[in-house]
Amino acid sequence: MESLHARYPFLRSAREAVAAAEVDLAEVVGGERTVVERAMERIELALEEGVVGEQHRRVRVEVLSYPVARVLVSLVDEHVLTRKYTRAEARTARQRLEADRQGSALKSSRRRRLGLSDLLAEFDLSETVRETPDGYHVGVGTYLRLAADQFGDEWRLVNRELADGEVPVTEAELLSLVGEAVRQRVDDGLPLPVPDPVATELDDEQGRLRERLADLDLMRDIDTVVPEMFPPCMTYLLDQIQKGEHLEHHSRFAIASFLTSIGLSTDEIVDLFQVNPGFGEDVTRYQVDHIRGATSSTDYSPPSCATMQSYGDCVNMDDRCETISHPLSYYGDALDDADEDELVDWRERQTEAGESD
Ligand code: SF4
Repeated sequence: MESLHARYPFLRSAREAVAAAEVDLAEVVGGERTVVERAMERIELALEEGVVGEQHRRVRVEVLSYPVARVLVSLVDEHVLTRKYTRAEARTARQRLEADRQGSALKSSRRRRLGLSDLLAEFDLSETVRETPDGYHVGVGTYLRLAADQFGDEWRLVNRELADGEVPVTEAELLSLVGEAVRQRVDDGLPLPVPDPVATELDDEQGRLRERLADLDLMRDIDTVVPEMFPPCMTYLLDQIQKGEHLEHHSRFAIASFLTSIGLSTDEIVDLFQVNPGFGEDVTRYQVDHIRGATSSTDYSPPSCATMQSYGDCVNMDDRCETISHPLSYYGDALDDADEDELVDWRERQTEAGESD
C-alpha cells in the first residue's frame, strides 16, 4: 500500500495492494478501531459536507478505511446514503486530481501524482477520449454513459456538437465525466455481501448511521414553519433578504436549502424572496428547484454549522448553538422545546392575514 492508494483508494492497484497484504476484514474491524473511525468519518462527512474529508496520516488506515466504508454503506443499505457516499468519494477524487494537476505544474512536491491520462487509462477511456487543440473529444457512447447523471441542459446531447461520433468537451467537462466514472466505480457492487462476523463487529456504527439518517429524514418531515424558532444564522439571512440586501451565493444557498428542508414550497420561497429586488423570480425558482432536487439528481441539505462558520454565515450564536452541530438540529430542538401555542405556522398566519384584509 502506498500514498497514491490512500489518495485514490478506488484504483485497481489499491484493491490489488489490499489483496496482496492479505488483509482479513474481520480482524481489521475488530482490532483496528482507527480504520473504522476513519471509515465512519468518510460516510458522516459525505452526509454533512458532500466530501470524505482529509486523509489520515497513516497510509494503511486511509487505504483500509475505504473498503470498510463501503461495507458500512452496504450494511445500512439505504439509497440516500449510498448515493451521497458515492458522490462524495467522486467529488473528493476530483478535488485531489485538480490539486495534483496544479502541484504538477508547480513541481512543488515529489509525491507521486495521478494525471488525467492515468485516470483515463484506469477507466478504459483512453481509446474513446482524444485530446484536440481546443480541448477533448469523447466518443458518443462514453459521453452518454458519463453525462447522464450530470446536472444542466448543456449536458444533453441535443445541445452539443456532434462530429464523427464524438462530442467535443472542455477540460473541466472532461474532469466532470471522469468524476462520474469514479462514482460508478465506487458504486459498483454495492450493497456488498457482508459476512456475519464483520457485520456484528460493526453493529454500533450501523446504528449510528441509521440514527443520523433518521435525523435527516426527521428534519425533512418537520413541515412546520415558525420563524421565531429559526437558528440565529437563518434569522439573519432571512432578515437580510427582507431588507433587500445582496447575499453571496453560499448565503442564498444556505437559507434556500434550510427553508426547503423545513417544508416551504418553491412558490412560498419565491414569494419570500421576491421582496428582494436582487432575486429575479426565474433565477430564484431555478435555484430552489435545483436545491430541492426537482431539476437535478441531487437534493441538497443545508450546510452544517462548521460549513456556515467557514463561510462567515454563522452569526449571533446563542446558548442553543453550543449544543448542536447543524442549523436543522437547532430548529428541531427549538420546536421540541416550545409550547404548543407558540407553534403557529407562518403559512397559517399568512392565510389568516389575507382573509382579514
Ligand atoms: S452555530 Fe449553527 S445554528 Fe447557530 S448560528 Fe451558527 S450556524 Fe447557525
